[in-house]
Amino acid sequence: MPTLPFAAESRLPRVGTTIFSVMSRLAAEHGAINLSQGFPDFAPPPLLFDLVAKHMHAGANQYAPMAGAAALREAIADKVAGLYGVHYDAEAEITVTAGATQAIFTAVAALVRPGDEVIVFEPVYDSYVPSIELNGGRAVACRLAFPGFLPDWDEVAARITPRTRMIIFNTPHNPSGAVWREEDMRALERLVRGTRIVLVADEVYEHIVFDAETQNRRHESVLRHPGLAERSFVVSSFGKTYHVTGWKVGYCLAPRELTAEFRKAHQFVVFCVNHPVQLALAEFMQDRQRHLGLAAFYQAKRDFFRSQLAGSRFELLPCRGTYFQSARYAAISDEPDRAFAERLTTEHGVAAIPFSAFYGDGHDERIIRFCFAKGEETLARAAERLRAV
Ligand code: PMP
Ligand code: GLN
Repeated sequence: MPTLPFAAESRLPRVGTTIFSVMSRLAAEHGAINLSQGFPDFAPPPLLFDLVAKHMHAGANQYAPMAGAAALREAIADKVAGLYGVHYDAEAEITVTAGATQAIFTAVAALVRPGDEVIVFEPVYDSYVPSIELNGGRAVACRLAFPGFLPDWDEVAARITPRTRMIIFNTPHNPSGAVWREEDMRALERLVRGTRIVLVADEVYEHIVFDAETQNRRHESVLRHPGLAERSFVVSSFGKTYHVTGWKVGYCLAPRELTAEFRKAHQFVVFCVNHPVQLALAEFMQDRQRHLGLAAFYQAKRDFFRSQLAGSRFELLPCRGTYFQSARYAAISDEPDRAFAERLTTEHGVAAIPFSAFYGDGHDERIIRFCFAKGEETLARAAERLRAV
C-alpha cells in the first residue's frame, strides 16, 4: 500500500474509532457477552421480513422519492398525530432518513455556519460533537449532573450567547436513562423564546419510557410543546422501535421552512433511503400496538436485569427510559472506567460502555452502561458473571 505523500490534516484530530465499535469488537475477540453497543440480540418480527420481500417482489427496488416514500411519511404523520396531537404535513414537513445519525448530521449541516455555537449536554451521544465540528461549528457542553442527569437550566442560560445557533438534546437519554420532565421543556422554551436558536430533539427512545402509570411519567416530546416544535427538528429511528438497528431508517419532522433547508442537504448527503424497507415499515406501523407496547416490553427486561443484579457489587442507577442500565462500580475498583470496561470484557466476559466516552474531557465517575435489549437467557448469563465480579 502506498504511503500518503502529505499530512492528512484531519478535520477531527481528537476523534478515534467510536466506542461502540471498539467495545463490540473487543467483545467478539474475547467471546464476551456483548452488553455494550445498543442493539437487540433477538429477532425482529418475521412479518417485517415478509413485508420487505413483498415490496421487493412488487418492484420497489429503485430509488425511493428523495424525501421518503409517501406511504411512510403519511404513516409517520398519523403516528405523531395520534400520540402527540400535532399535524405535520407529510409532503412538506417529514423526511425519511438513513437512521437518526444521518438526520442529526443533516440538520447540523443544513443550519450551522462556521463559528456558530451549538449547545450539547454531557454525557453526550457520541455523534453530535463530530457532526458539529465537521460542519465548522463549535460545541458548547452543559453538564447533566450525577445522579439525576437532568439539565441545570441556569448553566444552559449562562452558555447561550449571540453565536448560539442550535441546541441538540436527547430524551429519553442515552446513556443515563434519564427522562426530561415537563418543567424541563418549559425551561427550555423560556430560554429560546425570542432567539434564533434552532433545536434538534433526538427522540429515538420516544416509545421506551418506564413506570408511566405508577410515576405519572410520559415522554415529553417536543411535539407536545408548540413553542419548541416551531423551531425544532424532531428525530426518531425505526431501528430502536422495531428491533432493526441494522436497517438504518429514521425520520425528521420540522416546520416547512426548516424542512426545506434540511432537504437541501439531505439530497446530497444520502439522496434517499432503502425503498422496499420504507414501504414495509409503512405497513407495519399501521398496528399502533407495535410501538405502544414497546415500553412494557423493555420495562420487563429492565426489571429482570436489575433483579438479576441484586446482590452484585454494582450500584445500579435509576433507569427511567431507553434500553440502557447504568451502574457505578466504585465498590469494586478505582480503575478508570475505560480500563474497567475492558477488563470486564476480557476477564469477566461481559462488555459494557464506559461513560467517559460521552465527555469531551474524559470526565469519569466510574460508571458503565449495559444494554438490556437482550433475551432473558443472555441477561441471566451476563448477570451471573457480573455477580461474581
Ligand atoms: N441517537 C441516540 C441517542 C442513539 O442512542 C442512537 C443509536 N442508538 C442514535 C441517535 C442513532 O440512531 P440510528 O441507528 O437510527 O442512526
Ligand atoms: N446508539 C447505539 C448505542 O448507544 C450505538 C449506535 C452505534 O453503534 N453507532 O449503543
